[in-house]
Amino acid sequence: MTNLAVVLRYVRTHAPCSRADIAASTGLNKATVSSLVADLLERQLLRDTGLAENRIGRPAAMLTLQSRPYAAVGLEVAADHLAVVAVDLTGERLLTWRRAYPGLDGAPGRAEAAIAALAGRVVAKMTGQQRRVLGLTVAVPGLVGADGGVRFPAHLGRPDLDLGAALERGLRRPDYRVVVDNAANLAALAEYRAGAEADTPDLISLVGGTGVDAGIISEGRLLRGGRGFAGQAGHLQVDCDGPACRCGRRGCLEAVAGLPALVRRALPDTEADGPITDYAPELERIIALARAGDARVTEVLAETGRLLGRGVSTLAELLDPSVVVLGGTFATLAPWLLPAVEAEVKSRTAAPGEPGFRVAVSALAADAAATGGAMLALDRLEAGYLPAPA
Ligand SMILES: [Zn+2]
Repeated sequence: MTNLAVVLRYVRTHAPCSRADIAASTGLNKATVSSLVADLLERQLLRDTGLAENRIGRPAAMLTLQSRPYAAVGLEVAADHLAVVAVDLTGERLLTWRRAYPGLDGAPGRAEAAIAALAGRVVAKMTGQQRRVLGLTVAVPGLVGADGGVRFPAHLGRPDLDLGAALERGLRRPDYRVVVDNAANLAALAEYRAGAEADTPDLISLVGGTGVDAGIISEGRLLRGGRGFAGQAGHLQVDCDGPACRCGRRGCLEAVAGLPALVRRALPDTEADGPITDYAPELERIIALARAGDARVTEVLAETGRLLGRGVSTLAELLDPSVVVLGGTFATLAPWLLPAVEAEVKSRTAAPGEPGFRVAVSALAADAAATGGAMLALDRLEAGYLPAPA
């Protein structure tokens, strides 16, 4: 991290704060801090909020992050809609959009064009507000190569997508950074930057949906692995006698705790009506039945929670997080899943008493991945990639 980024990060996590506070906490000397702060003020990343009494009673100039003139944008490609979130430098939300789109199965190039067109509209909206876009991140439910190419999981039934190139074309060589990233990674970043467990440096986000994916924050950074494919938690085996998984093995976390598996066991009559393409109504039915105390549904949810707890324990044993945050459908169903998850985690802990980590429920709405996408551009500032002075 450069010294500029060190100061920027300190102000983000401690604002409002004075130059003396920064010097005392970062170990940089006062003259260095003053010149770094002058640079950040010139780049319009910091703002001087005027004088305030400091701890020893002397007035000092207080600094915060500048909310203008920047914006960062995240766009999530979900199964049947696109979600967009834009934030300012402080992480404050500027815009939230949700749009239907043809999905990934339409004519070749159609989904890419819809994604690029929406990205173009949100960027135009931000520049219309005299904001400079720091970065645009597109969150996808697949494995993303270094070139922005996307490999989708088999159950989405579509070929790979050259999304990075399509965006560069559609946005006409943008002057901001365009990134395509895995949705689970970005959801983890959203938890770390904006969730109820924000700033917990060792955090795992485990998100349920039609698949199950993890995003791992280790020592305050996303853990990506050698090829960027870390966090594929959906195929951890949690039940060796469990149902067959689409990957060819048995009893994977996804095959027992993914939404299709849950619907199959909780609502065995639904598949008789043909294959399910939209799980939202089924999820609503499961919640309604659980609220009414339906014996089958509450039993299925408790069993799912127990197996989910096994997956959580395995991840925690390998990665030693302070907290595992359950998101997506796991958060929606938390009232019925969490007691069983916690009981299983406790029973599997090697040390007596409490496990060394907490299981928490995500407080972020369904647009966690889009939020994380916007946060990725902010995160990059703290890795030392700062915009040039205007
Ligand atoms: Zn599997």
